[in-house]
Amino acid sequence: MKTIRSFLTLAMALSILSGCSPAHEHTWTEATCTKPKTCSECGETEGEPLGHDWKEATCLTLKTCKRCGQTEGRALGHDVREYKVTLEPTCVDPGKEEGYCSRCEKTVWQMIEATGEHSYGEWTVTKEASCTERGKQEKECTLCGKKVTEDIPQLAHVDDNEWVIVTAASATSAGKKATHCELCGREMQTETFELSMEEKNAIRKAESYLSFMAFSRKGLIEQLEFEGFSTESSTMAVDALNVDWNKQAALKAKSYLDMMSFSRAGLIDQLLYEGFTRDQAEYGVSEAGY
Ligand SMILES: [Zn+2]
Ligand SMILES: [Zn+2]
Ligand SMILES: [Zn+2]
Ligand SMILES: [Zn+2]
Ligand SMILES: [Zn+2]
Repeated sequence: MKTIRSFLTLAMALSILSGCSPAHEHTWTEATCTKPKTCSECGETEGEPLGHDWKEATCLTLKTCKRCGQTEGRALGHDVREYKVTLEPTCVDPGKEEGYCSRCEKTVWQMIEATGEHSYGEWTVTKEASCTERGKQEKECTLCGKKVTEDIPQLAHVDDNEWVIVTAASATSAGKKATHCELCGREMQTETFELSMEEKNAIRKAESYLSFMAFSRKGLIEQLEFEGFSTESSTMAVDALNVDWNKQAALKAKSYLDMMSFSRAGLIDQLLYEGFTRDQAEYGVSEAGY
């Protein structure tokens, strides 16, 4: 009796420890790669998880479990000793290269990226630069036609360093002289100038002669020299007046005809003697009615 009691007590204690009533039939869920065989009712487990059943990675596929499909790592990629270019890439189109993969034993290919490097021809000037405006030039990719344009810097003005009288000085006002840009003609350096006392007086004298008598350029200069003005002052004064010498020749011709008779040729000779050029003399004689 004592032994039976002890046995029952032991059985009861065991059943309390296992958490199951002795009558419970386990409902097993089969083991998977990562979980052991498990009772879906009480959670009791038996044995170990199965562990993955790996299929090794290939050139194109990853290491994969044949049972649950889990993957690990990366595909190996082809094992090609040497690729040969079968299509050269251009600036815009990708190329292609081929090789033999010793792992999967196939001829395989891969793309070569477009180079992005255009093959430009020579620059063509589409607009010349000047000293007043920038120019333009362009070049074109011989492969894809892409155009690049660029400004050509404006040219510097070129000073001709030749002083030219822009506004003549007179007996009463200052003159202006300037140098100019050889290319566009704009004024570069400017200076004002006053005439000397002698030059001013030479101008006044020339004006007063012209007010009562006609003169050729040469004749008027000689007249001023006769008055004691230097050749330079005389020439400057006569040129400063902007005289119409053709008109002077005509006036001279008329004044001769008023005084006496002349043949046409004789009158021309007289005007030549007075210092007119042949053109001026012929013009003057014609204007006077010959
Ligand atoms: Zn159970
Ligand atoms: Zn698995
Ligand atoms: Zn391969
Ligand atoms: Zn291109
Ligand atoms: Zn210029």
